[in-house]
Amino acid sequence: MVEKVKIVMDEDRCYLCGGCAGMCPTLAINVGPKWEFFLDRCISCKICVTACPVGALKAVPLEGES
Ligand code: SF4
Ligand code: SF4
Repeated sequence: MVEKVKIVMDEDRCYLCGGCAGMCPTLAINVGPKWEFFLDRCISCKICVTACPVGALKAVPLEGES
């Protein structure tokens, strides 16, 4: 079973390029004027974490939270 995570963005690193949003298979990230994450759509694949060119994203385990 895939470990459920939430994706957290580091505002000091993110330059709103939209790369993570473009790679997410379930449209769980939206990048417009600001970066947004939709937990209910996320399937915890972590593709976005790998895709970010500046390492601004990290996956935080949700165990015990939901
Ligand atoms: S972990 Fe996967 S599903 Fe969740 S936001 Fe990142 S790319 Fe999208
Ligand atoms: S890929 Fe990284 S730098 Fe680009 S919008 Fe996503 S979190 Fe920000």
